[in-house]
Amino acid sequence: MALIVHKYGGTSMGSTERIRSVAQRVAKWVRNGHQMVVVPSAMSGETNRLLGLAKELMPEATTREAMRELDAIAATGEQVSVGLLALALQAQGVPAVSYGGWQVPIETDSAFTKARIARIDDKRVRADLDSGRVVIITGFQGIDPEGHVTTLGRGGSDTSAVAVAAALKAAECLIYTDVDGVYTTDPRIVPEARRLKTISFEEMLEMASLGSKVLQIRSVEFAGKYRVPTRVLSSFTPPDIPIDEEAASGTLITFEEDEKMEQAVVAGIAFNRDEAKISVIGVPDRPGIAYALLGPVAEANVDVDVIIQNVSHDGRTDFSFTVHRNDYARTMELLKTKVLAAVGAADIVGDAKICKVSIVGIGMKSHAGIAAKMFQTLSAEGINIQMITTSEIKTSVVIDEKYMELAVRALHKAFGLEEAKAA
Ligand code: ADP
Ligand code: ASP
Ligand code: MG
Repeated sequence: MALIVHKYGGTSMGSTERIRSVAQRVAKWVRNGHQMVVVPSAMSGETNRLLGLAKELMPEATTREAMRELDAIAATGEQVSVGLLALALQAQGVPAVSYGGWQVPIETDSAFTKARIARIDDKRVRADLDSGRVVIITGFQGIDPEGHVTTLGRGGSDTSAVAVAAALKAAECLIYTDVDGVYTTDPRIVPEARRLKTISFEEMLEMASLGSKVLQIRSVEFAGKYRVPTRVLSSFTPPDIPIDEEAASGTLITFEEDEKMEQAVVAGIAFNRDEAKISVIGVPDRPGIAYALLGPVAEANVDVDVIIQNVSHDGRTDFSFTVHRNDYARTMELLKTKVLAAVGAADIVGDAKICKVSIVGIGMKSHAGIAAKMFQTLSAEGINIQMITTSEIKTSVVIDEKYMELAVRALHKAFGLEEAKAA
């Protein structure tokens, strides 16, 4: 007997029929002698619908008071899901109880709309498990020290599930979704993408942080920090497939490098359309200028990603960086009104129609020329690279958004990712 955590995403919970199927699958695990905790997301489209309603009433909800309400609104999607799933299990004769994040409690900080989990109390959950119940806990939400409901950022149910698994020292956290694992790239963009049987924790962390939305990045961080065995698999297989077959399916995140395996140089390709580029033109090139420009941006709680400063001509330089598209308008406004004149820059231009495409792979550590091959592939397609950033196991480029699919397909082919490998 083991303690197992299942997470079901929005599509997997998308209708009462789907919820019944989730209940059948969970019931099978119970019959096989496991203690089960289940963390579902809101039904598909529900979080968007709720946030859409909020937007009708307040298009730019940026004050703390407004963001508190956004969380109170968005958290209701998961509240409905847990109740429905508990009912579906009870209807199948399986004892089950549902809890909101605040009831467990899942304690978070007070950063509304992107709160971080600080602590999870396992007492109540353990008592229920010991009395033979399936415990169903809302994904995505928690409670801050003042008792306000918080949410963990879009896709946050993944993080709830892995954090719950870590707190309970579960044997495994199974993330059920609408694809049967982690692929070399998003299979919706490249149909030839290949499922990986395993992916190293470091590669998964990069893929998630660079835009592969199959797992929220914080869930991968939790999995790494607490060494939670985590697997991504499909909720669309027949719910009664043999448990051994199911437990070995999908993609397992691994923590040890397996030397036996032929390590692919590039494991996968990630892309991200959520950023926008801002260029400050004709900045005086003197010490402290990066801080003068980006200090106020950081103070406004805007995260900056790729940064480029060009060589200067006649003592002046151009300074470009990317921010999340949601922060684009207010960052432009902030720079125009408060910073531009103060630093003596000539102009500012912005471009929201960009995307970032990244190749990721541990093998890049020991192979030269991978980035060059990436640039060559893009140039052969006539795609102009606007910005480049690299680390040991990834290379990212910023390009015009309209070339995104072309770039991802070309790179997928160039690095031979559609061919079967031992990974
Ligand atoms: P859920 O609602 O189950 O959390 P998500 O939509 O958040 O599901 O994540 C699953 C989706 O992630 C897939 O449908 C797929 O389009 C997308 N995705 C992006 N990159 C990848 C990848 N490398 N491998 C698998 N899926 C990916
Ligand atoms: N329902 C939330 C969202 O749509 C959380 C999740 O699905 O993981 O972002
Ligand atoms: Mg998700």
